[in-house]
Amino acid sequence: MSESAEQSVLRRPQHLEPGRLFINGGWHDADSKAHREIIDPSTGKMVTSVAEADASDLDAAVDAARHAFDEGPWAQVSGRERARILHRAADLIRQRADELVALESVDVGKPVSLCRAVDVSTAAEEYEYYSAMAQSIDGATRQIPVPAHAYTRREPLGVVGAITPFNFPLILSSSKIAPALAVGNTVVHKPAEETPLSALLMAEILAEAGVPDGVLNVVTGSGAVVGEALLRHPMVDKIAFTGSTAVGRHAASTAGEALKPVTMELGGNAAQIIFEDADLETAIGSAIRGFVFNSGQFCMSGPRLLVHRSLHDAVVEALAGAVAHVPVGDPFDPVTVVGPMAAERHLAKVEQYVGFAQEEGGRIVAGGEQLELGGELSGGFYYKPTIIADLGNDSRIVQEEIFGPLLTVQPFDTEEEAVALANSTPYGLASGLQTKDLARAHRVAARLRAGIIWVNDWAILDPAIPFGGVKQSGYGREYGPEALESYTKIKSVVISLA
Ligand code: NAD
Repeated sequence: MSESAEQSVLRRPQHLEPGRLFINGGWHDADSKAHREIIDPSTGKMVTSVAEADASDLDAAVDAARHAFDEGPWAQVSGRERARILHRAADLIRQRADELVALESVDVGKPVSLCRAVDVSTAAEEYEYYSAMAQSIDGATRQIPVPAHAYTRREPLGVVGAITPFNFPLILSSSKIAPALAVGNTVVHKPAEETPLSALLMAEILAEAGVPDGVLNVVTGSGAVVGEALLRHPMVDKIAFTGSTAVGRHAASTAGEALKPVTMELGGNAAQIIFEDADLETAIGSAIRGFVFNSGQFCMSGPRLLVHRSLHDAVVEALAGAVAHVPVGDPFDPVTVVGPMAAERHLAKVEQYVGFAQEEGGRIVAGGEQLELGGELSGGFYYKPTIIADLGNDSRIVQEEIFGPLLTVQPFDTEEEAVALANSTPYGLASGLQTKDLARAHRVAARLRAGIIWVNDWAILDPAIPFGGVKQSGYGREYGPEALESYTKIKSVVISLA
């Protein structure tokens, strides 16, 4: 990122050109000419619209991707050539950071400073990481006891259908598109209906980087129409899905009917455990970051805080004091840490669950209400970071994924009990603990049922570290060489030497 980009002050876009579908290297209206309004969650006002595709548009995108895979150069060129293009994409993401930050912030309500430091820079790193990996895709030779030369080839799968959620549009589309392209697949991407803007700009950026026509296609539209058609399309070879457990279950079974391989990155409801020997300052900082980041709309949020009983009351008090200093408000103010919820329906869900918590005996120690702002922000979807104590483990807000800036605090007495509470929901995406005892760190990390465990911090993520879920949080892994493998198939070749 250039210094000037880093220092520039971004203004909220007031009006953007309507988005169109990106199919076979060109921009198209939907066949039906339908559009969907895109709302800026910080103001509640429409900022633009995008084409609302239907199954015929999706068919055209899959045809383009199929043709680009079967006939085009992408799967045939060397990994090194693909690597050069992906690396150029990473450079362009950095060069066009201001545009990406503004779009992602106006679309999702992300604070601009965090969006630049996390979303845009992570997307660039994802392309960089898989650019390096594209150069080292190879097979193996196998010794067999007959006169034959046996080896394996690692080949792309074909057309990948990528379906992404509303909360991290840029990161989660790049985490699929970069590894899929690195090994020579072609892609049809369906972004979330409410937050499709950065996907369209990325189509332009990847084309500018040199990705050939038809290799990446972006089709905006509803899950029920476009997503469903993608799941069922006979010419699609893999589904990479990130979203809720309910939709994921349906997506996995639909794709399973056609025997399509899937990656399922689903919901989460992580526990953060503070043991009696934790460094309290570190623990409080992690706990706050773990539930306010992205207004809690983060699959790896830690909305369940489990605290050793000896520290419980002091921790609750310290959390309430610390959260009062977290700047909440206009995402285009560079000091803001927590912006609005991404959509009005998410705000309504948060309010509903805070109501359930109060009915179940929960004590609100911070927040618990909408944040009312003035001027052009008066229609925005803001909710104060909220901390709730005194709830039982079976309360709905503890057991279910809410996806808002909410933290419940529960006491425990023993390590055994902490592990049992942490593992007690249907989810298993992330978990974490705070302790100075190294043996305990390893022991508890091994017993927590989740795809990633953080010790003495929260949400350290990197394209080199695989992540994904267990239980109802899904299966398959994104990031790392593991993700790359999931976009390939092994072919064995045996040549007789007789
Ligand atoms: P969602 O399940 O409502 O939607 C995800 C995507 O699926 C969207 O693009 C949507 O249009 C599409 N979709 C909906 N119905 C479909 C259908 N019938 N067929 C095909 N596609 C369909 O999820 P969301 O509300 O956008 O995102 C929030 C959820 O995503 C949370 O549960 C969160 O935990 C999860 N998530 C998981 C991860 C992870 O890495 N595990 C990351 C981010 C978000």
